[in-house]
Amino acid sequence: MSKQTLAPLFKLEENKREPKVINGFYQKDIISVNQFTKDDLAYIFARADEMAEMAQRWGTCDLLKGYTLACVFYEPSTRTSSSFIAAMERLGGKVIPITEGIQYSSVSKGESLIDNMLTLEQYCDVIVLRHPEIGSSASAAKYAHVPIINAGDGAGEHPTQALLDLYTIQSELGKVDGLKISMIGDLRYGRTVHSLTKLLAQYDVSLRFVSPDTLRLPLDLMNDLIDRGINVRETSRVSDVIENADVLYVTRIQKERFTDLLQYEEVKDFFEITPELMTRAKEKMIVMHPLPRVGEIHYKIDRDPRAAYFRQVQNGMFIRMALLAAVLGQA
Ligand code: ASP
Repeated sequence: MSKQTLAPLFKLEENKREPKVINGFYQKDIISVNQFTKDDLAYIFARADEMAEMAQRWGTCDLLKGYTLACVFYEPSTRTSSSFIAAMERLGGKVIPITEGIQYSSVSKGESLIDNMLTLEQYCDVIVLRHPEIGSSASAAKYAHVPIINAGDGAGEHPTQALLDLYTIQSELGKVDGLKISMIGDLRYGRTVHSLTKLLAQYDVSLRFVSPDTLRLPLDLMNDLIDRGINVRETSRVSDVIENADVLYVTRIQKERFTDLLQYEEVKDFFEITPELMTRAKEKMIVMHPLPRVGEIHYKIDRDPRAAYFRQVQNGMFIRMALLAAVLGQA
């Protein structure tokens, strides 16, 4: 039957996918925090505030109706994957989740990352990617025609986590400038620390780094902070920083990055934030953690109002709602 004789199914005069808002993020890959200026951050945070209010009053909306996200995780995830899925669904979009089952996809047949991206982009408008290799999201973005959002590239970066971390600091303490921020744990392999440190370098902050000697912040990052005039100090004792910290940013030792498990065993019980230790901390300060925790923060601290890590989790969804909408030209 020829096309002319068919009654049309759709009235297609209106292009429902025209961008409504053209901003600096429209159709952009989100690979590193280095892409974000202070103005960009303010924009995303303001949108995240709106998302939080919308979610509270309406639960969901139609802002991203007609859009599909592919969530592709080559490494385990709880919060990043589910918050991107929740973010897309709350905005009325759809998700192709390849989060737990990558071993059941054609990756197990040897399909390359790039072929995987070039395939999935045929079905979706944006891809969120987590992969164990540093630089993997940047390579995927070189080939893919839809925006790639880096959800963690090995020990490299985790930009959306850093955005939600900074948003949490700002909303919990009302400012970023002037704060003393202590980062504790695996500073060598912790990608959330790498991204957050780079973002914080745009502010007037004092940074304290607490880690075992073998897991210190990479030298290039440290030198960059020093070049930018940031007040930095390193120590291996939490007791050196607890009294002055406005933010304790606690991280786990990244077991999966160690090639020698004996080395992991040596540092795995490096520290624990206990209720006793918290009696020495300021009354107005916060404890953060990108999670999962595996013994770094005592469970009793969950009842302390200064424990911000679960509020931090919820902020992740609002930030990812704002980012997805911005990248798709709808916010
Ligand atoms: N969830 C964070 C990440 O994916 C932190 C962690 O795994 O320790 O990097």
